[in-house]
Amino acid sequence: MGLITKVHCFKYNNAEGYAPLREKLALTHGREFDALSVYQSADKLRADIEKLDGKQIELATKQLFNNQWNTVEGCITPLGARVFDWRHYRRISNGDAPLTFNGYWLEQTPEMIEIRSNIVTCGYCGRQYTDRPSGSWCDACLGSEYLAEDTLHLLKLIPVAEDVIKSGVRDGQPPEDVVARYHKEQQRCSVAREKKGHARMLRSLKLKIESVEKEFEAAKWMINHNVPMDNVIYYIHTDMFTFGWDTTLSSEARVRIEQRMEGFPYKWSFDKV
Ligand SMILES: [Zn+2]
Repeated sequence: MGLITKVHCFKYNNAEGYAPLREKLALTHGREFDALSVYQSADKLRADIEKLDGKQIELATKQLFNNQWNTVEGCITPLGARVFDWRHYRRISNGDAPLTFNGYWLEQTPEMIEIRSNIVTCGYCGRQYTDRPSGSWCDACLGSEYLAEDTLHLLKLIPVAEDVIKSGVRDGQPPEDVVARYHKEQQRCSVAREKKGHARMLRSLKLKIESVEKEFEAAKWMINHNVPMDNVIYYIHTDMFTFGWDTTLSSEARVRIEQRMEGFPYKWSFDKV
């Protein structure tokens, strides 16, 4: 079950016309989302959103952002869509065409504000928690291979609403117990990764041995059955002996190979022409 809100579209021909709405939205939405302003032609959803002016949409709450939302499936598109709290399209003045100020904004309902205040998020892995207080620490990514000790402050959990890049809310050093857990998790995960790497290496070598053995048996069989072997290859990824990979086979050659390959114990095929 998502959150219901209403879409409002706007369009002004000059900055003065836009100013009152801009001031109003600065109060309700906090800031204009300039960073992601795009040329209007770059937003494929623009025409769909314009049709929604004054209408309700349903927002998904699975993954939250501080300035945008996913809609639920079936809302705007079958898979849902990404909409912004306040999107301001920009169009560069072109010849005599005037600079326009248009875009859309979403009504900020108490439910939208509340959920962004209650759900906290990690600044490193993006995991969101519904059951932890602001100021606690993420432990989902402590063992991450690329997490450096001097970036541990990013793991501080803060409400989605405050999760603004460069806002300084995650400055400062993590407490000692977080650092200790970091070292422990790094050690545990590095051992686990090493084990996984070894297993992968052995599996790959075993597969190579098996395929060479198979090629050996296949070659013996083909020699015994007078099959021409200058134009056949074994593809390990499809487990298939394939004729005609090097040069295209004539239809006579294909018939001859077909006859001699009868009873071949492995998968085989002709290369696609
Ligand atoms: Zn995390």
